[in-house]
Amino acid sequence: GHPLTNVQQRDINAVLHPYTPLHKLAETGPLVMGHGKGVYLYDTQGKAYIEGMSGLWCAGLGFGDEEMIEAANEQMRTLPYYHLFGGKGMEPAIELAEKLKEIAPVPISKVFYTSSGSEANDTQVKLAWYYNNSLGRPEKKKIISRVKAYHGVTVMAASLTGLPGNHKGWDLPVDRVLHTDCPHHYRFSLEGESEAEFVARLAKSLKDMIEREGPETIAAFIAEPVMGAGGVIVPPSGYFAAIEPILREHDILIIADEVINGFGRTGNWWGSQSVGMTPTTISAAKQLTAAYAPLGAVLVPEDVYQAYVDHSAQLGSFGHGFTYGGHPVGCALGVKAIEIYQRRNIVEYVRGLTPTFEARLAKIKDHPLVGEVRSCGLVGAVEMVANKATKRSFDPAHGVGSNLAKFLEGHGAILRALGDTIAFCPPMIITEDELGELFNRFELALADTEAYVSK
Ligand code: PLP
Repeated sequence: GHPLTNVQQRDINAVLHPYTPLHKLAETGPLVMGHGKGVYLYDTQGKAYIEGMSGLWCAGLGFGDEEMIEAANEQMRTLPYYHLFGGKGMEPAIELAEKLKEIAPVPISKVFYTSSGSEANDTQVKLAWYYNNSLGRPEKKKIISRVKAYHGVTVMAASLTGLPGNHKGWDLPVDRVLHTDCPHHYRFSLEGESEAEFVARLAKSLKDMIEREGPETIAAFIAEPVMGAGGVIVPPSGYFAAIEPILREHDILIIADEVINGFGRTGNWWGSQSVGMTPTTISAAKQLTAAYAPLGAVLVPEDVYQAYVDHSAQLGSFGHGFTYGGHPVGCALGVKAIEIYQRRNIVEYVRGLTPTFEARLAKIKDHPLVGEVRSCGLVGAVEMVANKATKRSFDPAHGVGSNLAKFLEGHGAILRALGDTIAFCPPMIITEDELGELFNRFELALADTEAYVSK
């Protein structure tokens, strides 16, 4: 490789990077970003990159939006910090909660704020446990998640996550967390099994799990409407319609993790609307503030909320909350982001781009290294395979996906390798031309990858 620049060397000397092969970082060199504008990022050398992942599926309005900057400045001047503990309040937290109630896909009574998606999901688990304690059934505490789910990295959120990399090394998942099947037909269907048969089998498997464990021990089921970090997995149609009655029958709360899906990403305000999911409660973060500040939220319906209120005298006040949950700058940015999404009609805009996105993915599908392409709205993925006919994956040791991502950086674009699946999640404000250019650059990187693989 190239000799490291001064800023790269300083980075390596001082920063511990998450999700990074640290033993190789000195050789590959960190990519240190300097500034961003629109969908473009510029590294400290001035090289431009199209940001095809909205950072980590979050910067839906791209970079340098003047209205967002102004909203943050104004809130900083008015009240840069306060909190919600002990019944304190602030205008931005109220306004954002009102907005969320207005746009939520199911009736919502209250909003609980966190600083992140992991904390939102941790809060969901505590709320479900507290709820069942409130109702005098302390044994109803297990949470069912899914293989390949991604719900974050705190000890509980990592347990809910269904990816080996988040478990091994930490002795996770903790007790009380179960994982049912991943609804990925391409990978997990049986020989000749139709989507409808696959869905019926998964529903049966979930039912069996609930019966085996005892429905009186299960508090909640959590799912991303469209799975993100597990590889952008869009469930077959009818999946949620098949499993939700089984959950409701046993009084199991249904938690939608909308941390990636929410706020227009899938061509609806909420991913649950795109996949026919009807949740009890919702976790939101990321595009909630378009990533201009960290913020998470848990959206709670009236009956669940009322159970806490009814029993708070016996249980004590809900003893859970984060210093920065409902941070006024985050909330002001949430209010502004939603206002911008509404004014610029972001849902319609995403729908307008979707045919181009799908057509470019469909074109890639013919490539010999590509096993499957998938998408929902403006989030998608390309899964690369060693053998198209048998769907055989590459040996992970070859790092085919991470090599493609590296080649792509060379061509001036950023996408994320999830193993050998390459995720696409461009800022929702991307133009048709910019989206075309992102795919052009991806195709160059795919050609580089083909040359690399055949070596
Ligand atoms: N849930 C989903 C679906 C996510 O994709 C993520 C992050 O990627 C999280 C939760 C965790 O959010 P955070 O990284 O803000 O803790």
